[in-house]
Amino acid sequence: MIPLAAPNLVGNEARYLQQCVDTNFVSSVGPFVRQFEEGVAAVTGSIDAVATSSGTASLHLALTALGIGPGDLVVMPTFTFVATASAVAQCGATGWLFDLEQASWTLNADHVASALRQNCRLESGRLIHIDSGLVVRAILPVYAIGNPPDMGTFRKLADEFGLYLVADAAAAIGSDFRGVPIGQLADASIASFNGNKTVTCGGGGAIFGTDSDFLDRVRHLSATARVGSDYDHDAVGFNYTMTNVQAAIGCAQLERLNTFLETKREVHSFYANLSEQIDKVDGFPDGEFGKSAHWLSGMVLGTAGLTGSAINWLSLNGLPVRPFWKPMHLQHPYKDWPIDRSDGASHLWDRILVLPCSTSISTSDLETVRSKCLDFFHRHASSSASVISRGTRIGDFES
Ligand SMILES: *Cc1c(COP(=O)(O)O)cnc(C)c1O
Repeated sequence: MIPLAAPNLVGNEARYLQQCVDTNFVSSVGPFVRQFEEGVAAVTGSIDAVATSSGTASLHLALTALGIGPGDLVVMPTFTFVATASAVAQCGATGWLFDLEQASWTLNADHVASALRQNCRLESGRLIHIDSGLVVRAILPVYAIGNPPDMGTFRKLADEFGLYLVADAAAAIGSDFRGVPIGQLADASIASFNGNKTVTCGGGGAIFGTDSDFLDRVRHLSATARVGSDYDHDAVGFNYTMTNVQAAIGCAQLERLNTFLETKREVHSFYANLSEQIDKVDGFPDGEFGKSAHWLSGMVLGTAGLTGSAINWLSLNGLPVRPFWKPMHLQHPYKDWPIDRSDGASHLWDRILVLPCSTSISTSDLETVRSKCLDFFHRHASSSASVISRGTRIGDFES
């Protein structure tokens, strides 16, 4: 079985883990944590980074440290992983859901701009969402599959309306916005180092940016908000720190970041080319606002009706193919959150097939994926003359 998005651990991971055991540093005290934070800061163009236990924890902590809580509204895309919404909800805040930009699958800046102007009013310096009465506090774009959102426009909107800009860059290590590194674009950005991300710590996350006072405060809150060495705490803190064991893996991973990103890009192009050979199938978008880290790759089918059978048939034939994010407005806990519009996300999510895209994938694995995909679309092409015989171009599969 070719893995979907498996960790690639053939560098210094084992050696650094052995050092954790040999030195007895397995908890959050240990040299790899700081080394990993410095590495994350370097690859994201940040002043500093705070390593945490997960991407979700990072989002919760960043929003909390910015003072976002009950009564607050956070602008966010409906098309995202559930962690973006759960972090907002964990703060006691509410998400204001927006549709995506087709070319990047990220938060649509035009929609956000017009909604902030038309559906809100300024009241003694606070931006009130008229329908709900909630106070808009932050814009939270997501680097979907590593594609940068229109961060330039979001920065301008945030400044114009006095909002925070927080970026869910969970899978975006290696992305940029028009050449500007991701650490320099928002008030706070977060990454995930979960097992299926391009760079993994097994599990883990980070908060990074260019405001060192804010990041010091985040570090303080992440470790119980303790003052001094005794049991004194000056705020409601979290236990969200990363351990030396996780950071040891992360340090080894960052050493190979460039080859990981190179492979992800090649896999993306391979599936883009494959998709061109099949009628009514597209590759994943590149993003139009900068460089994508291409976390996941695959295909977008012309009709949702075929997705289930593609997943079943390809899985039965040894390919782990997965669907992708179901939008937040279709999720039980978030179905009542205010929504601007959702047509783009509603018509996209159930046509997506994520194909095997580990950084360890071989050329022969890619060829296997290609032939099995072509085989599937061949079998499901209509019996009409739209199948081009002998070629690799597969016909109309409308059914
Ligand atoms: C992976 C991911 C997360 C969650 O990160 P965890 O480390 O699994 O908590 C959040 N948002 C997005 C967009 C992700 O892709």
